[in-house]
Amino acid sequence: MVQSFYGSVLEEIDEIAKRINLDSGIHKMIRHPERELTVGIPIERDNGDIEVFTGYRVQHSSARGPCKGGIRYHPDTNLDEIRALATLMSFKCAVANVPYGGAKGGITCDPTKLSKKELQKLTKRYAAMILPIIGPRADIPAPDVNTNEETMGWFMDAVSMYEGSTVLDIVTGKPLDLGGSLGRREATGRGVMLTTIEILKKLKKDVKKTRIAVQGFGNVGSIGAELLMEKGCKIVAVSDVSGGLYNPDGLNIPDLIRYVYGGDKIQLLKNYPTEKNESFISNEELLKLDVDVLIPAALENQIHSGNADEIKADVVVEGANGPITKKADRILNEKRIQIVPDILANSGGVVVSYFEWVQGIQSFFWTIEEVNRNLETIMLKAFQDAWDTAHKEKVSMRDAAFMLALRKIAHAVELRGIFP
Ligand code: NAD
Repeated sequence: MVQSFYGSVLEEIDEIAKRINLDSGIHKMIRHPERELTVGIPIERDNGDIEVFTGYRVQHSSARGPCKGGIRYHPDTNLDEIRALATLMSFKCAVANVPYGGAKGGITCDPTKLSKKELQKLTKRYAAMILPIIGPRADIPAPDVNTNEETMGWFMDAVSMYEGSTVLDIVTGKPLDLGGSLGRREATGRGVMLTTIEILKKLKKDVKKTRIAVQGFGNVGSIGAELLMEKGCKIVAVSDVSGGLYNPDGLNIPDLIRYVYGGDKIQLLKNYPTEKNESFISNEELLKLDVDVLIPAALENQIHSGNADEIKADVVVEGANGPITKKADRILNEKRIQIVPDILANSGGVVVSYFEWVQGIQSFFWTIEEVNRNLETIMLKAFQDAWDTAHKEKVSMRDAAFMLALRKIAHAVELRGIFP
């Protein structure tokens, strides 16, 4: 049986707490999310029927600053998943050293079965229902799976209508014309590219000879793949929910992006008109390809005890949150596969979200060069810290990143003391 996502995250925290001799009281606090809200969101469908969807917002920790984390729309979204993602956000913000705690939200729904009008209603009602616990100084949402700039614009509008004035800093990942930041849309993929290049350098591998497979062709996977191709890597496989495409000579990523995102509706890769040397593969086959780097950038629990033994990549860079279960992590470590963990590899999004929040508060917007330069500085520092700690403590990069983050969160809790 595949371990629950939150179970995996707690197991990692427990292990690291033991390793760093964490005070048992603080350990208990960090194991428990601070606040969880479940809401029933009614909307009137286009046909006049009323349907009620379940939504969540979980705030794991505000010890280091306002809570921060995305909003996900997915049929399988549940409280266990949102709790796990909120907890990972606290650790991610600590690794990157941005002054935030962690949160996450989601709605259990299939966005492919909702019209744009229905999605807008759902988003605005959800925003209104979680409004009592969010705010620019309390908890700032952002996009995640199946949500995007447009969703964030709707969300910001709903909150602004309640407040009676436009509240730019309530949410990040907004459209540029609504106080968004240049470079935010590409930020997570850019961070995945930066950390992939960095690990290749550390392992003394030739970037130009690197063959990469990417699972998930959404915001993170497609942009990560495109930026890595620009660096000279060969992207031999990509996939989405419908399956994958494989070309041993390397796929043309800009062409694929145009195909999937160029029209009014997102197109599935399974319908892509393949050319010579291109063939369809399943997601499971993609994960097991003999490549240098595997980038799971879709959903959690994709690499588990049932398939970890068959992973052939030398390096796995976690674009997605929690794509490797705890059991699979052990198997990959035994196989000496180098993993760049999610809380480091995909932190580019929250880092540029932080930049967007800062720009919104100051009403002063940066150039793309400033955004990308500051992103690179923060990510390379976080990478180097995790790399150095891994070598000093003789642990994996995941354990190292968790050690660094857990110490920072625990220190913030200690400094603040317990209220009352
Ligand atoms: P997205 O909705 O833009 O794209 C998700 C992609 O995964 C799509 O191509 C979809 O078809 C594919 N997919 C869905 N189910 C799949 C399955 N069962 N097998 C294979 N592919 C599947 O989402 P995103 O924003 O790119 O997020 C992807 C992952 O990255 C998630 O784990 C998310 O939490 C994480 N992440 C996202 C951001 C961000 O800024 N968007 C930041 C950090 C982490």
